[in-house]
Amino acid sequence: MTSRGRPAWKPRLVRERYGKDIWVPGRGTVRPHRLMVEKVIGRILPSHAQIHHFRYGAHPIIVVCEDQAYHDLLERRHRALVACGHVDWKRCRYCREWDTPEAVSEDAHRHSFHLACAAADVRHRRASGRMKMN
Ligand SMILES: [Zn+2]
Repeated sequence: MTSRGRPAWKPRLVRERYGKDIWVPGRGTVRPHRLMVEKVIGRILPSHAQIHHFRYGAHPIIVVCEDQAYHDLLERRHRALVACGHVDWKRCRYCREWDTPEAVSEDAHRHSFHLACAAADVRHRRASGRMKMN
């Protein structure tokens, strides 16, 4: 038992969805899927490596990503595939429809939108007095 009255070895539940973290002496708590991958590749994963969960459950499908940027890319493509069946389609932030990369524009914050939908939104906001006119 620790001074706080809990056994030191007890895994800490961080996020239910990912399962319980596992206590590894000398490393602290480690996500179960990292340990699973490390067992397969036979070495410790670098800290910048991220695990993408393609499928959860008893027979998970996971992809080891070299960093968070690549993981973000995979997440975006995975979401698109599940939502509309095309990995490279993007969702308009105004009409919420998925469309081809050619049909949607993207701003610096990676927000995707139809130019027509963005223009309609500006017109609507001007008409309702929620946008300053110069
Ligand atoms: Zn749109």
